[in-house]
Amino acid sequence: MIAVVGDGFGSLLVHVTAHYLGFTNDQISIFGPSDNPVGTYQQYAYNLGQTVLRSESESHFLGPDWPTFAQLDAWAHKSLRPLYRTTRRKYNPGVPEILTEATVVARRIGWNDVRVPTRVGWLQREMQPTPHFVMYDEQANFIGRAKHVMLSPGHGPLSFPPVLAQARKDPAIADRIVQAYEPKQYAAGGRYIVLGAGIASVNEWANIIDAGASCLALTRNAQPETQDLNVPRCLFESIGIDAYTQLPFEQRIEFLGQVLRGTRPERREWHTRIKTGQQEGRFDALVGEIDKIEPGRAGLRVYVKSAHGEDPGWLDVTGVVAGTGFNKSVLTLPLLRRLVEFYKIPVVNGKMRLQTNCGVPGLDRPESRLCCNGLIANNVIPHGDTIAGLKFISRRFVADCARAEKLHKRSFGSRMALQFSMGRDVASSLRTVTPTQQLA
Ligand SMILES: Cc1cc2nc3c(=O)[nH]c(=O)nc-3n(C[C@H](O)[C@H](O)[C@H](O)COP(=O)(O)OP(=O)(O)OC[C@H]3O[C@@H](n4cnc5c(N)ncnc54)[C@H](O)[C@@H]3O)c2cc1C
Repeated sequence: MIAVVGDGFGSLLVHVTAHYLGFTNDQISIFGPSDNPVGTYQQYAYNLGQTVLRSESESHFLGPDWPTFAQLDAWAHKSLRPLYRTTRRKYNPGVPEILTEATVVARRIGWNDVRVPTRVGWLQREMQPTPHFVMYDEQANFIGRAKHVMLSPGHGPLSFPPVLAQARKDPAIADRIVQAYEPKQYAAGGRYIVLGAGIASVNEWANIIDAGASCLALTRNAQPETQDLNVPRCLFESIGIDAYTQLPFEQRIEFLGQVLRGTRPERREWHTRIKTGQQEGRFDALVGEIDKIEPGRAGLRVYVKSAHGEDPGWLDVTGVVAGTGFNKSVLTLPLLRRLVEFYKIPVVNGKMRLQTNCGVPGLDRPESRLCCNGLIANNVIPHGDTIAGLKFISRRFVADCARAEKLHKRSFGSRMALQFSMGRDVASSLRTVTPTQQLA
């Protein structure tokens, strides 16, 4: 009845919400090759060296927000500290802790039991006998039917500025140019350029200094303002989301471009590490852009030009790390590209012009929903590509499915019992995890 295309965080949040409301596992299918809903995120977080989430206590994987993650942590370790920190917005769940919770929740609801281990290649809208979708894999084999489909395919490929993308084709230097989200190693005594000043880049500044190397932070413009979350806090709340959704589509895209531009949270720990680097002459910042790159005596020879004055010129460096993130266009996702082309879905600046319920125009119907989650939905829900945003969209989608199917909902008592026992299981698993150091 309900299908999720994609096997990441979004799939877990749709599943846990559906389970909480009263859908059973024979009514849900999750399509994707990974046997673990945290696999895709975990690999990126590991490559980046992320230790705590950017998000806060409300962002986690139980159906309702309560108990919050700080409360679960306090319960697990019999400590008031997480509660105190969270009242000051200084609590961020540790990566091992949040992944532990996700794993416990996935096991409890049987996430892997409802998974169909294949990628979806095509969705065909059928209207008879009732509106539904027929699903095919990437080899065009039939893989199932679903009345309601949530598209949660995550990100497009990693993106590099054109000069670096070109240089990566040269085998002599390719492995010295990496993305922050790729696996990498820093050599003590080496000198590295880090592009950008968003969260991924600042994380790398600290990693380079920790490795005993030198870091040159290169930004096109003066560095951005700091911001705790990936969009302003008001956009995490219904009032902010509703105000945003009421803007015309073009204004939403423009606004999104402004609020998502290279912000980063304040992290006391990072500051200390970067300050140490500065004092030891191992951290410096430049405004400019890489214009040329070639093999050099330290590994790479890089020409930096500036739009704000004299060019910094040629520099010898060991490697370049790009904190430039993912390609955000839906057209880079093969399934989405096919759907856009075949069903003539309107796309502006790489974003589908979704309905305000995140539905795909022309295909979404109240009795048979086709909804988007995650990054591809952030022109409707600005924090769509966060745990909190995925949860918000998942809840609305599952509630729509429940209405369409006239679901006999789980009783209040049963929901409370479920939530309490899941919370207890999470708390007892958290006890086995060494608490991650808070950075804020
Ligand atoms: C390094 C990093 C740090 C982050 N930190 C935070 C944070 O602190 N707080 C926060 O809230 N969020 C954070 N995020 C964002 C968070 O990880 C994403 O919001 C979340 O993973 C998106 O979930 P998703 O299900 O949309 O995509 P993903 O988790 O990326 O999963 C999508 C999955 O779908 C699969 N797939 C794609 N196409 C198909 C197809 N056609 N058929 C079947 N399967 C398909 C992919 O292989 C992938 O496994 C971070 C992200 C990264 C990369």
